[in-house]
Amino acid sequence: MLRIDNISFAYEKRTVLESIDIKAGRGEHVSIVGESGSGKSTLLKLIYGEYDLARGEIFWGNTRILGPKFNLVVGYDFIKMVAQEFDLMPFISVEENVGKYLSNFFLEEKKERVKELLEVVELNDFAKTKVKFLSGGQKQRVALARALAKQPEIILLDEPFSHIDNFKKQSLRRSLFNYLKQKNITCIVATHDHEDVLGYADQMVVMHNSKVIQRGTPEQLYKNPKNPLVASFFGEYNCINGLIVYDFQLKVKEGAPFIAEVEDCYYKGQYYLITGIGVSQKFLFRHPCPIEKGTKVHLEISAW
Ligand code: ADP
Ligand code: MG
Repeated sequence: MLRIDNISFAYEKRTVLESIDIKAGRGEHVSIVGESGSGKSTLLKLIYGEYDLARGEIFWGNTRILGPKFNLVVGYDFIKMVAQEFDLMPFISVEENVGKYLSNFFLEEKKERVKELLEVVELNDFAKTKVKFLSGGQKQRVALARALAKQPEIILLDEPFSHIDNFKKQSLRRSLFNYLKQKNITCIVATHDHEDVLGYADQMVVMHNSKVIQRGTPEQLYKNPKNPLVASFFGEYNCINGLIVYDFQLKVKEGAPFIAEVEDCYYKGQYYLITGIGVSQKFLFRHPCPIEKGTKVHLEISAW
């Protein structure tokens, strides 16, 4: 299992991570969540052994992860990372890239393995295509398949779907995360997309200003976000008398305590998102049909 014990790290003089503790069991899915610049990629690189720690230690089972100062060749064969910049070989095909580190000794098995992985990332039709002809999203999928080729015990994914369009993203996410669970591969995913987390992560860790500000299961954090930053990760919210209230928790009801004058109305498919101005604050709420600008509505906070 992965044990990150009280680690700190700085680039030059600038502290990026401070006293971080994270544990992840075999096959567990952990999401590292935070704004851009909060240190997610740095944390993954430290777990990979790309940099030396300023303080603390990282273990995978009994193996201590060491940085370049103590390790001639960066990385370990049980751990793979798909970084934000994926370095593929542009002039060879998708299947050659995926199978690059697999032995040619058992050629049939290698072929089968590559085929299986291309299925996971839904790229079978492009097996023979040279990587230089692929889109950014397709390249990202090749990088994912290649990282899985030698069946790592732990995989580090840095915003793994950032280049992939919405048409593909949902099914790819299910396919990849199900595959990792099925193979009992521990995965640590850096993301700023709640859709990568809800329904998939066993635990999530929210980073801000170099520190972990909240952690728990996605359900715990969703239901009890500690502050507006955590709430904003999940969606639209209001701060009402110090309470965080999601847009869907605020309902129009005759005689309810909060009064707002409707400002704007946005079609969201299943509902309309409505903004309104109250006596001392703005309100954001969902409503099944549009409401005309200037209408006065009464709002109440509904229970979960
Ligand atoms: P995230 O992945 O959450 O966006 P990063 O780990 O990439 O955050 O970056 C955290 C902070 O460290 C940022 O302020 C970034 O500018 C800085 N940083 C990242 N990489 C380097 C580097 N190689 N040298 C110096 N500063 C860096
Ligand atoms: Mg990053």
